[in-house]
Amino acid sequence: MSEATTVTSNHVRGGSQRPLVIAIDGPSGSGKSSTARGVADRLGLAFLDTGAMYRAVTWLALDRGVELADADAVATLVTKARLDINTDPLNATIAVDGTDVSQAIREPQVSAAVSAVATNLAVRADLVDRQRAQIAAAAEGIVAEGRDITTVVAPDADVRVLLVADPAARVARRHAELGEVVDAAAVTDQVIRRDRDDATVAQFESAAPGVRVIDSTYLDLDQVIDAICALVPSASKGDPSP
Ligand code: C5P
Repeated sequence: MSEATTVTSNHVRGGSQRPLVIAIDGPSGSGKSSTARGVADRLGLAFLDTGAMYRAVTWLALDRGVELADADAVATLVTKARLDINTDPLNATIAVDGTDVSQAIREPQVSAAVSAVATNLAVRADLVDRQRAQIAAAAEGIVAEGRDITTVVAPDADVRVLLVADPAARVARRHAELGEVVDAAAVTDQVIRRDRDDATVAQFESAAPGVRVIDSTYLDLDQVIDAICALVPSASKGDPSP
């Protein structure tokens, strides 16, 4: 059994139907985190960044000096780890075993190592369970983003989107996020190499049946948020019309 994962959110959505679930997958630099956060904020839903969970576990393994190639040791570490997640899209945070790692998980050493943890199938099984529990606990509905949300974590989500963008646009976006201090090779590693490794355990390079593809290469953030909100069934938005 896994340690506890707690969920905190202040967002409340109107309506009496079952909570809306929006699943967004995509490769690195496709803009899925900003998009998912924006959709959640606009619709009054919770927001779950599943990549942050893989990053938090990676941070923990690095902090404890656990050898990432030792799959059993990493799996044991994850099973015992406590994750506390705030799913408010305007204040999303994550703590592991009581330490807030919201900033630390964005450091380059975590980005470089995270695929080694995410390709550990025991880690995936544990975190997928926790992600499903968080989605089920979001009474106001939730936008969850990652690599396998539309296919594995929540294949029955009301809205399922694969967000894509040309590789050059994704590398440029990541470079802009990380700043000029990071060299081009490191950015390319974070985008292209990481996606190649991640794609060995999650299918996010092509859309599964029923998943809508949105190409963000030539769209700004508001346009992508608009496109996803347009896919939400009217009843789920509280509209009186069918
Ligand atoms: O989205 P982000 O870049 O923060 O994700 C970090 C890493 O977490 C990915 O490179 C991938 O290895 C892993 N991940 C995953 N499955 C998810 C979300 C993220 O394997 N659903």
